[in-house]
This record gives sequence, structure tokens and C-alpha cells, in this order.
Amino acid sequence: MIYIIGSGIAGLSAAIALRRAGYDVTVITKELHGGSSYVSKGGIAAATAIDDSPQMHAEDTLRVGDGLCDVEAVRYFTSEAPVIIEELIRMGFEFDKDLRLEGGHFRRRVHHKTDETGRVLTEFLLKEAVGLGVNIVEDELMALQIGDGVIRGFVTRERGLISNVDYLVLAMGGYAYLWQYTSNPSTNTGDGVAIALRAGAVVSDMEFVQFHPTITTLGGETMLLTETLRGEGARIVNELGERFAFNYHERGELAPRDVLSRAIYMELMNGHRVYMDLSDIEDFDRKFPGVSDFLGRHGLSNKDRVPIYPGAHFTIGGLRVNVRGETNIKGLYAIGEVADTGLHGANRLASNSLLEALVMGFNLPRYLSEPWDGPRLDDGLLVTIKLRDNGPLMSIDEVRRVNWEYVGILRSGEGLRKAVDLYERVNMAVSTKESNAALVSYLTAYAALLRTESRGTHYRVDYPGKDINWQKRIYFRVSP
Ligand code: FAD
Repeated sequence: MIYIIGSGIAGLSAAIALRRAGYDVTVITKELHGGSSYVSKGGIAAATAIDDSPQMHAEDTLRVGDGLCDVEAVRYFTSEAPVIIEELIRMGFEFDKDLRLEGGHFRRRVHHKTDETGRVLTEFLLKEAVGLGVNIVEDELMALQIGDGVIRGFVTRERGLISNVDYLVLAMGGYAYLWQYTSNPSTNTGDGVAIALRAGAVVSDMEFVQFHPTITTLGGETMLLTETLRGEGARIVNELGERFAFNYHERGELAPRDVLSRAIYMELMNGHRVYMDLSDIEDFDRKFPGVSDFLGRHGLSNKDRVPIYPGAHFTIGGLRVNVRGETNIKGLYAIGEVADTGLHGANRLASNSLLEALVMGFNLPRYLSEPWDGPRLDDGLLVTIKLRDNGPLMSIDEVRRVNWEYVGILRSGEGLRKAVDLYERVNMAVSTKESNAALVSYLTAYAALLRTESRGTHYRVDYPGKDINWQKRIYFRVSP
């Protein structure tokens, strides 16, 4: 039996592939429709067009990744991308015929199903997995049992200890819900990273949190306004109608997400209001039915300006793995957003994360029988931390407030030091949702404090330039 924790696109792809390869598979998930996959919008990047190539896709990924991508991982995922799209089509998934353009891409290569790719694809994969006999149960991972650097078992809230486990696949998503303003659902609180770190796994790139520039909340309902809207002609304007994004980047609305998020954040901080103007998009209701329904529910249409703000969206850091998903603990795999392969570097190219989740999931069986390799850990700074095992817990709401204020879009040494001090008073050794949230936030603030430069998604007002000495990763592990 192989256990997979998490029922997002990474977990379900792995479940299907492992079942097809003849394994018995059980998926354990906190919430069947929790996680980012179900709400993801724009699509999956893959170079399938005649004027495109995996090499061009790799070049865009490397440029946006700002010097920290793992080049081998970039080559692997961009060349596997067309194969995965082909596989989904072979399975019967019907993408829309057109390819969309998103920020940071120099070609139209985003494969999508209207503007609800994630929901439609998750439902498709779920049906396929159940049809193949994958067992799916709702429960919550609490801890791992490791012996001599090898996975032995794990503990869940309902089932207690499950032992004699040879392989465990973590597909538990990221932790971007832990910022006050976010596009993420409330399941994304960093359980996977925190639980595995406590058990001895190495994590990396925690300072790199991607903020999405265009989130809206209308009548208490939050929605991410997908990047493909801008590819199709949406404009970002202030209350004076000025397209201020061009003051920050020559590509204006199609600038990389970090640049655009900072531009919108600055505009808001300077007392302006910021809107998305959708009125130039042709055939809007057919192309973007999800956004159209959402606007309609709140008495608006694409002829109205929609108020927007930036928020935490994707956590680049996570459990350090190679492209096979192998962590430094034998038998323990991590795939999808919980993992860090180095594909995204310091900044993620839009629509590369569903791609990464699918490739890691579908390709997993081919690596199970091969000798364990493990991730590379020698290209950076390895920091060993000790976890405080007493003291109070911090509520999730408080964590979200601290992160937004001190570990947000614009960071400073002073603010990061405050966040680190606050988290160091908290009990981060127990396995609770609150403790997990504080632990991953602590590592994010700590890494951001150490990285005295600005690169990719990490922007320090006191170190606004890039520093060649920081062209390396920061790894964390707990002291044994
Ligand atoms: P998730 O889909 O986040 O799934 C995590 C799973 O882990 C969930 O099933 C959850 O229930 C489970 N889980 C968590 N903790 C526990 C626990 N303790 N025990 C048991 N189970 C647990 N990326 C793109 O490439 N293209 C896009 O267009 C795009 N749009 C996006 C739009 C939005 C609004 C958001 C939020 C993200 C978007 N992303 C997009 C990012 C992308 O959706 C995610 O990176 C991807 O879906 C992650 O998939 P995953 O399977 O790794 O994790």
C-alpha cells in the first residue's frame, strides 16, 4: 500500500499513476476540495505551439526565476510539459483550443479550460482516481515516524499510528493562507513543511513567497482575477484612469508578478485606489465565465472597474527534493507546492506550478524502483535551528497579521527581526495547526532576514539591489 497525503492535483496525479502501475493506493486528505488546485484558474504552461519550444519555455522560467532556478529542474519540467498535456488529452481531458498568454511568458503557451482550469481538472482527476480504485479518505496528517533516516510510519488525527510504511508521498500544498491578504484557501497553513521538518527533512527557499497582483473581494467573496485576463487585454488603472504599471516596468500589466504586485502595493500605499478595467476584452462572457458569474453575483459586469489588491499566492519554498520528489529522508516523497525542486528559483513563472504538480505526480512510479538519490543540499547555506518546545501558541489570525505587516511585499531588516523575535517566543515543537503555521512563518522571516538583498519575490527596502554573493539557497533543518 502506498499512502499519499493530499488530494490536490499533485496527489491525484500520483494516485492515478501509481494505481495504473499496480500499487494499492490510499489518499488521505484534510479536505477533499481543500487546497489551491480546486480554485486555481489560469492554466498549465507547456510549449506545444508551432512557434514555441521547451527551450523557450525554459528561458522564460530562468529569466523570471532571477538567478536561483535549478537549471536541470527547469530543463526537466519544460521538456516534460508537452508530454503531460498530451497525456491529459489522451485521458479525455478537453482543453480549450486557444493557448493563453500570461505575464513573464514570451509565447502563448497556457493550456486552460475556460477560466476554471483547476476546478475542472481536479474533478476530472478525482473521477479517474476513484474509477481506478484509489481509496480516498478525509483525515489529517499529524506527524511522521522516522528511523535511521528512513520513513517507517505516520500518525493521523483519526487513525493514529500507521506503521510498516515503505513509501509516503506528501502532496500537502503550500502555506500562502498565512498572510492576511491572500488568494489561498484556509487549508493552506503549512502542515506538510512543518511536520516533515520536525521529522528531519530539509527545507529551502522559504523567503520566496509569491504575491499575486490582482485579487478582488466583493461582498465578502474573494476571487483571484487570473493573469490570463491581462494577456487578453485587461488594464490596471488607478482612480484617475492612469496605467501606472508602465512606470514600474516596460511590459506594464504583463510585467512579472513581483514587479506588478509591488507597483499596485505602492500605489495603494500612496493613497490611490486601484482597479482592473476589463472593458477591452472581446467576447468576455464566453472566455471568462467564472469571472463573469462572480461579477454578476455582485451586481457588476466587465464594463465596470473592479477594485483589486495584491495578496500572498504561492509559496516557492518547501521540502527540498530532486525532480523525482525524493526528500533527504529515504522513502519520503514530496510533490507539488509542498516541495521545492528549484524549478521556480526566486520567482515562479505563471502556470508553472500546476505543471510541476502534474509532472511530479504522473512520473512518480517510474522512479520508485530506482536507487534512492535524494536532493542536492550543497549549493547554499545550511542553517540548523532548535525548536522551542514550551511557551504559548500564536493564533492563525495573529500569524497572518504578523506576516502581512513584517514579512510581506516590502520587507525591512527591522520588521523581519520583529517577526523572528515574535515567532521565537512561540512553541513550535508540538504538532498543531497553529504551531505548524508559526514554524513555517518563522523560517520565512528568518530566511528573509538573512538574505540581505532583493531578488525575485523577496524585496528588502534596506537592500534594494541584487547581490551576487547571495546567488545561493538557504536551507533549514532542525537540530537532532
Ligand atoms: P493543493 O492543491 O494545495 O492540495 C493540498 C492538499 O493537501 C489538499 O487536498 C489539502 O486538503 C491537503 N492537506 C493539507 N494539509 C493536510 C494535512 N495535515 N493532512 C491531510 N491533508 C492535508 N498555478 C498554476 O500553475 N496555474 C494557475 O492558473 C494557478 N492559479 C491559481 C489560482 C489560485 C486562486 C491559487 C490559490 C493558486 C493558483 N495556482 C496556479 C497555484 C496552484 O494552484 C498550486 O500551486 C497547485 O494547485 C498546488 O497543488 P498541490 O496538489 O501541490 O496542492
